[in-house]
Amino acid sequence: MKRLVVLGAGESGVGTALLGKAKGYEVFVSDKGKIKEKYKAVLIHNEIDWEEEQHTEAKVLNADVVMKSPGIPDKVAIIQALLNKEISVISEIEFGSQLTKATIVAITGSNGKTTTAMLTHHLLKQELEVGLAGNIGDSFAKQVLEHDFDNYVLEISSFQLDGCFSFKPKIAVITNIVPDHLDRYDYKFENYIASKFRITKNQTKEDYLIYDADDEVILEYIKNNTIQATLVPFSLTKTIENGAYLDNDNIIITIDNNQIIMPTENIALKGKHNVKNAMAASTVSHLLNIRKQTIRESLENFQGVEHRLENVLKINKVQYINDSKATNVNATYFALDSVSSPTVWIVGGVDKGNSYNELFSFVNEKVKAIICLGVDNEKLLASFGEMVDVVVETQSMSEAVKIAYKLTEAGDTVLLSPACASFDLFENYEDRGRQFKEAVRNL
Ligand code: ADP
Repeated sequence: MKRLVVLGAGESGVGTALLGKAKGYEVFVSDKGKIKEKYKAVLIHNEIDWEEEQHTEAKVLNADVVMKSPGIPDKVAIIQALLNKEISVISEIEFGSQLTKATIVAITGSNGKTTTAMLTHHLLKQELEVGLAGNIGDSFAKQVLEHDFDNYVLEISSFQLDGCFSFKPKIAVITNIVPDHLDRYDYKFENYIASKFRITKNQTKEDYLIYDADDEVILEYIKNNTIQATLVPFSLTKTIENGAYLDNDNIIITIDNNQIIMPTENIALKGKHNVKNAMAASTVSHLLNIRKQTIRESLENFQGVEHRLENVLKINKVQYINDSKATNVNATYFALDSVSSPTVWIVGGVDKGNSYNELFSFVNEKVKAIICLGVDNEKLLASFGEMVDVVVETQSMSEAVKIAYKLTEAGDTVLLSPACASFDLFENYEDRGRQFKEAVRNL
């Protein structure tokens, strides 16, 4: 019997343990922290051996294969010990994909993964049997075990790709690449880029790579490396013969001379970045032969994802928008781009080495006041203090919203788009977004 050791008992770890057990592995689950009660109950119920608050070497280093949670960096001692013994350490996506024959659509990128994955799933599910997994909802492994759908849309982070070796998606999507998580990549952007492109590693010319052809980082990598997959670019600025582009507010997608045309004004999601996401999702659907009418209708009725440019309420003709998931400057760039009225901008949190220059023109043009919501706002003050008349600091969401309320008049927008991580004042970005919505509703 082969021994599967699972490190990290979260959603992906517990799913892998269940799938492994069903496939005849001897399974052991080990977590350095405390395991959530709901997962403990699943392990006990399924008679899977586990431990918490430690990794017992004798029970880990005798594995045939190890699945590591994406949150565990390679540099920790137990992973180093495994690698020294040449035991293969893989991700849940790798493990699950070896055990299904489904057609896989794999979506990665620095921003837009969740939105594009959910939109793609929404389009495909109208006509296909399709699961949605990878950082969203139930784990991929669990779905392979319980359902084994014919198709999957998977949202995949670079950490999961680092643990992929034979993973071969039929369709890969790279939404964009900007520097992120560099602490896990020796502070080298090229390592992070290479990690994202692992998604194409085992693809052949029968497979597809859909990517943003306006993204210089992606173009540069494709120019200098051999990609086997058939390339299907999308662009807002250039004409694309095989792929998607924008022509006078129409998205035009051409695959093997089969064309579909969709007016952007009918897309429910707003903002340029969402036109890109819609292009990517529609191109996937076109490749998988979803009917044109279905694609058009589904783009019209997809209502978006919580905390991503989410319209909360209109109060006294002022629109309140929750974009709490914008944890980097690039995401906030598209949020500021998408607003067209004078805006009170709530920004701040844990700075990840941000440079705000690319936001200057938007801020000059449409931001009437800035509310800095962070423990340390020094960089924001230095960047925008001279540019905007009103810049205030607070460490409370309800106060930030009350100040915003006072500063606005009919026709304005209040935008929470922090460009920073949330953990100085909040549990996570969801907590930050929920507190914002709560405060708006209490106005
Ligand atoms: P991810 O899962 O990659 O973090 P999300 O879909 O959750 O991506 O979006 C994260 C943030 O980035 C949100 O603020 C969202 O509005 C913004 N965003 C979404 N799509 C894009 C895109 N294609 N390019 C840049 N920013 C985007």
